[in-house]
Amino acid sequence: MKALVYEGPKKIEIKDIPELEVGQKEVLIKVEYCGVCGTDIHIYNGEGGAFDVSPPLIMGHEMAGIVEKVGSQVMDIQPGDHVTVNPNNMCGECYFCLNQMEQFCTRSVGTGTTNHGGFAEYCCVNEKQVFKLNKSLSFIEAAMTEPVSCCLHGIDLCQIKLGDQVVVIGGGPIGLLMLQLAKIAGASKVIVSEPVEEKRSLAIELGADVVINPMEMKLEEEIQKHSKNVNVVIECVGRTETIEQAISIAGYGSTVMMFGLTGPNAQVSIKPDVIFKKEIKLMSSFINPYTFERSVRLIESGRIKINELISDIVPLADSKKVFEDSSYRNKGKIMVKMSTNS
Ligand SMILES: [Zn+2]
Ligand SMILES: [Zn+2]
Repeated sequence: MKALVYEGPKKIEIKDIPELEVGQKEVLIKVEYCGVCGTDIHIYNGEGGAFDVSPPLIMGHEMAGIVEKVGSQVMDIQPGDHVTVNPNNMCGECYFCLNQMEQFCTRSVGTGTTNHGGFAEYCCVNEKQVFKLNKSLSFIEAAMTEPVSCCLHGIDLCQIKLGDQVVVIGGGPIGLLMLQLAKIAGASKVIVSEPVEEKRSLAIELGADVVINPMEMKLEEEIQKHSKNVNVVIECVGRTETIEQAISIAGYGSTVMMFGLTGPNAQVSIKPDVIFKKEIKLMSSFINPYTFERSVRLIESGRIKINELISDIVPLADSKKVFEDSSYRNKGKIMVKMSTNS
């Protein structure tokens, strides 16, 4: 089968690799679409991701497809089922798994990070990672289940109350998902800060009440015009400056969710006095514990808009450029299309 293989920092090739063996509890999926995630880019750049990575590796952890074959002990999944995959396979037995913190599982296996993932014609995963989809759902929308599941964990931790005022920093695919989830969670106003004009217009289309270009206006002053007290700030960029900005605009008794991923050695400066006087809660959100099922159902419900977030679809044969050309991929969410026929 054809696959996009990561061979080491800044080295990626389309290759023909042997067919995958399907274990007794495993499911072989014919991948239709697999999304490119910031984590894949971090891996490509040699910075690792949420997990340690050793090449050669087929990346890709945001996929949807059709079940091709199942192992002899698979109970609930059948060939022909439309499915998406939770890339994180937790052991279920370690201290963390047994204490409702499966995201910190010490023996977890990651599809597309430690094991071969979805940038290939086929992908093989454990049955417990597989989630059946309503066949009316498109594979592109279904391939967004993983990023949505990560956002759901983040939103859960923000504990948005009905009527809260929320600021989202960054209007990329994650910021635009967070905007929509904050609305559903009951925010009375969502303000999005984003320098790129097209992304600001998209934010308005997706329900933002106010958009601000932080390059042209002073964010703090602008926010004060629209909000008496910001209750929740969701930082979706992962840069030192934007994290510091998130803290500086946070209101009294607020939560700052540092959702954007920084490099491993990034440092931000904070003034404890500000945190103290405003009782700011600094939070972070790691992967997607227990949110995958809800994510599938939420996307199926049509209550969040997914297609609008996809900036381009590239066939597997052209997928190298997504990694090699950073200006191309900065436009939004890119989906790699695996099959050549459908
Ligand atoms: Zn991802
Ligand atoms: Zn575990």
